[in-house]
Amino acid sequence: MFCSFCNQNKSEGVSFLNVELCNSCMEEITNITVEDDKYHYYIDIIKNIFKKCQLDN
Ligand SMILES: [Zn+2]
Repeated sequence: MFCSFCNQNKSEGVSFLNVELCNSCMEEITNITVEDDKYHYYIDIIKNIFKKCQLDN
């Protein structure tokens, strides 16, 4: 699978909607807090994924 978040090929992960997410990104996202510097970075990626899904429909 190809992770949409870190853009790397990973052997294990989950997929939701049309997006694949590796286990390490999944773990990072589920543990992230609003105070975290990466929070807004992830929100942006998630927003782009949702936009892409809207366009696909
Ligand atoms: Zn990843």
